Amino acid sequence: MTLSTLARSIAESPTLRLNEEARLLRERGEAVIHLGIGEPKNRAPLTALLSAAAKLNTGEIKYSPTDGIPSLKKAIIRYTEENYDKVIAPENVIVSAGAKQSIFNILYAILNPQDEVLILAPFWVSYPEMVKMCYGVPVIVTPEDGTFQPRFEDIERKLTSATKAIIVNSPNNPSGVIFSDEFLSQLIDLCERRGIYVIMDDIYHKLVFDGKHPTPGYRFTTKDVESTKIIVVNGVAKLYGMTGFRIGWAVANRQLTQVMTNVQSQITTCTSPFLQVAAEGALTGLQSIVENLRLAIQNNRDVIMQEFKSFPGVKCVKPEGTFYCLPDFRAYQKDSVALSNFLLKKAFVVTVPGKEFGMEGHLRLSYAGSIKDVTEGIARIKWALDPQSPNEIYIGDKKMVRDWL
Ligand code: PMP
Repeated sequence: MTLSTLARSIAESPTLRLNEEARLLRERGEAVIHLGIGEPKNRAPLTALLSAAAKLNTGEIKYSPTDGIPSLKKAIIRYTEENYDKVIAPENVIVSAGAKQSIFNILYAILNPQDEVLILAPFWVSYPEMVKMCYGVPVIVTPEDGTFQPRFEDIERKLTSATKAIIVNSPNNPSGVIFSDEFLSQLIDLCERRGIYVIMDDIYHKLVFDGKHPTPGYRFTTKDVESTKIIVVNGVAKLYGMTGFRIGWAVANRQLTQVMTNVQSQITTCTSPFLQVAAEGALTGLQSIVENLRLAIQNNRDVIMQEFKSFPGVKCVKPEGTFYCLPDFRAYQKDSVALSNFLLKKAFVVTVPGKEFGMEGHLRLSYAGSIKDVTEGIARIKWALDPQSPNEIYIGDKKMVRDWL
């Protein structure tokens, strides 16, 4: 085989694969409900669209500085001050093609071959693959008690002299859980003492419910941005529903930011300046859009939790943020890949197998779509799995009869 062994070992993004499968089924005319998708349905903020359009109208769309245009970096500095209570300099910020590239840049900039990165299960599917792409070793830490709250003792047990970093994602994709202050404080204290990077993927930090808020990691350290091991990642994708604009950023010490900038300059040069001005437009425009999105998603969360109440055997930890939940379907099927395939084939509902997130027996369901999709999607899953539910259902305009239970 003439292909790279490493590249061949990298798994396809299961969520992107499912998007493609759903698209093909829809093209065939099937009434697919997509509970797999990780993006809100809202339109991009008007200020983002107007800024991008104005930039396009100039006809001058050229390379930008690798680390981002100064005005966007200024908006990110203000965002960091307002939301993290941290004063940072332009040299602490690098803008990338989505939070995804920010995380990749960080890992590429800090890892030597065989360095270990702790990843807390359930985890976002891309973390282990990105660590592997940087010749590091992903070390998965799984909570034993089924709450999805990571435990400090479990982390301590996995530490070795090769531990270089830990990735923290709270609110968490896929569980929706916000990590406790007690946990974060113990973890950050340990990492600062031992010189272990804490990569805080804060991409969902404003999509939180019931008045709860994740505490910024900086709150648990006395070190300043130049000496702390905390690196913060954020972006406009989930904050404003601007997933397709591909703008994210990292905040880190100057030396690390410079190394990441060198790396990025050799890979993508920069992100497109008209997408950068769109992100700036969103960050500097009316922020009520974030609150509206948050309220709509909280409402969807309430609806989906209500639906689970009448679904015997399914246990679901109530999400405190994000637009995902990770119900336990082991009462019906322990193999989450088989279950997800079954639901797609029989009920035309897209779900993501928990196995992909390090939680076999669970399915990740997204409630970022419409209420109608959420309720109809759960009704179809009930119909496919629960013998107590009526055995006939309409899927699109087809009457379907369950003949397998
Ligand atoms: N981190 C997490 C936890 C995510 O769920 C996602 C997107 N699904 C990202 C990062 C990537 O965000 P972006 O679209 O800005 O690359």
